[in-house]
Amino acid sequence: REREAYAARFEPGRTRDGHRVEVAANLGNTAHAVDAVDYGAEGVGLLRTEFVFMAHAEAPDLDTQIGEYREAFDALDGRPLVARTLDVGGDKPLPYWPLPQEDNPFLGLRGIRLALTRPEILETQLRALLSAAGERPLRIMLPMVKDVAEFRAAKAIVERLQAEIKAPDVQLGVMIEIPSSALLAPSLAEEVDFFSIGTNDLTQYTLAIDRGHAALSAQSDGLHPAVLRLIQMTVEAAHAKGKWVGVCGELASDPQAVPVLVGLGVDELSVSLRQVPMVKARLRELTLDGARRHAATALAQATSDAVREALEVL
Ligand code: PEP
Ligand code: MG
Repeated sequence: REREAYAARFEPGRTRDGHRVEVAANLGNTAHAVDAVDYGAEGVGLLRTEFVFMAHAEAPDLDTQIGEYREAFDALDGRPLVARTLDVGGDKPLPYWPLPQEDNPFLGLRGIRLALTRPEILETQLRALLSAAGERPLRIMLPMVKDVAEFRAAKAIVERLQAEIKAPDVQLGVMIEIPSSALLAPSLAEEVDFFSIGTNDLTQYTLAIDRGHAALSAQSDGLHPAVLRLIQMTVEAAHAKGKWVGVCGELASDPQAVPVLVGLGVDELSVSLRQVPMVKARLRELTLDGARRHAATALAQATSDAVREALEVL
């Protein structure tokens, strides 16, 4: 099966009955964009740019960043690239960006909140992304957004830079990985171009279980019905405004979750590059109606164990 999936990796992601779901790759290193294409990725759905920064002993300057982002755009040859702006803090420390001592760093200065305290770092990164992209399909994504105020603050910076360097329009979207942003998806959907659901953090913040907690890892399941309801709300709000929704957390490559996410209406799945062929193969086994049954069944359960057992016998 694995060999079959690999042989068919360049087919576009779609269900057996032709419903299109894009399958993209998550990357932490722009040099791997070429491998993502080799594995059949239809684009990059999440470039974790903090890893681009972590690979350097000090903050990479504008030209260094342009060079690295350009490498990814070149390899992608016209396929879209979703670049997440620096997501530092919590589980992602950056040695040369010392953060204040906090009792709860996961609930502290991180993601877009942190980036907005040092706009010069964010601006250099945005300048580099816009310059490296040129006319190519760049999609900028903001991490850990909790409501529309943070989105507007970042959007103002993007628009100012675009005007300054005469960069073409790009899609600007947000990660949905804090429960407040899923609950407020209708208001965010009016202003953003897209959502990408980060199920790793969304699960952590919904279930109040540290995503790296060894003893609790079995209970930290993105197929929890509470998480699924937030995903459902997000997709409905986005589609009501004609916006697209991806999933870029681990859940996107869970074979039991793929039909549920498709049934909930997710438009794109972004997964680690080696899993692209498997996710496409999983899509080809499904029909849209069947996937909707998976979603309805999952949503009707009360615990993640019940969800997995119910899906098992479908
Ligand atoms: C997530 O939170 O699900 C996500 C994709 O981002 P990261 O794993 O980098 O926090
Ligand atoms: Mg996250």
